[in-house]
Formats: sequence, C-alpha cells, structure tokens
Amino acid sequence: MNGAEKVKLLLEVIRDEILPLTESETARGNVSCGSAILRADTLTSVMVGADNRSTNPIFHGNIDSINRFFKLPVHPPAEELIFLATHAPCPMCAAAIAWSGFKELWILFGHDEVETEPTLLPSLAMYRDLFGVEGIRNDNGFYTRHSIKKQVATSPNRDELQALLDDIDRAYAALRKG
Ligand SMILES: [Zn+2]
Repeated sequence: MNGAEKVKLLLEVIRDEILPLTESETARGNVSCGSAILRADTLTSVMVGADNRSTNPIFHGNIDSINRFFKLPVHPPAEELIFLATHAPCPMCAAAIAWSGFKELWILFGHDEVETEPTLLPSLAMYRDLFGVEGIRNDNGFYTRHSIKKQVATSPNRDELQALLDDIDRAYAALRKG
C-alpha cells in the first residue's frame, strides 16, 4: 500500500467510523476528539473511540479507544497496529499511546487548527507550562508521528484526497460550533 492509498483509507475511517461516534458524543456535551486503532496491513479498525470527558475528565478520545482496546478478550499486539487520532494528542494521550506500545501515530488536526475549540486549547498550554515544549516530536523513540494533511499535500491523487478532507473538515467545524 503506498502513502496515497493509505491516507485515503485513514480518511475513510475518520469519516465512516470515528465521526459518527464523535457526533453522538458531542451531542452529549463531549469534545470532538476521536481515534481508531487499525490493522497495519488493511487499515481496518480493531477499535474506535470518542471523547467521553463528561464522565471523567481524563477520558479523552484517545484514552477511550485504548480503554476499549485493552478490554477486548483477544487483541493483536499494539506494536503491530496503527493509532489514528483526529487531533494532535495532549500530553496525557501522547504518553498513553507510548505506554500502550503503539509504534505509528497518524494525526488529522494539529494544535494550531483547534483554536476555535476552547476545550482543546489547554492541550498546548500543558505542553508549554508543564514541560516547556511545543508538543511531541515526530520521531521520539516510542513511535513515529505522521500528519494526514502533509501526506495529502504530497500525494499524486491530491485533488481526490483533498475533496474527502474538505468534507471531513466541514463536518468537524460543524461539531465545534455545535
Ligand atoms: Zn488527551
């Protein structure tokens, strides 16, 4: 699977699986962060999760997938799977992804894209104030971080991917306003 095929499948997982779950959680007062844990070879989902911080402030969209994943009676080793996060992770989620053993992280929205969502703003403030850094490193010894938008921008089928991305961007913008 080349990079363009991979990013198309990642976007489809966001649109078809993460987004519907996130829409039901935002309707209950949660934040528009979601995630999925995917098989590396097919990019089919093993688990999908969405923010549930109205239940507990640390149940972010990434923590939800991790909790659900490790509750499965049988699951593939995390090292062999891909972690897909709709938003650049906060320090807690970034560390939780490392503690869980995932080696490959893909992100849709960067910290700079969520300035309209006040509940997500503390994420970058925590990196700055707690650690004096601006976020996680792309290659950090625990996993590699990849940007969906950067991959779209350099893909040969960029127009097709951009159209898919635009639809998803609009859907998330609507959730942030709601
Ligand atoms: Zn988080």
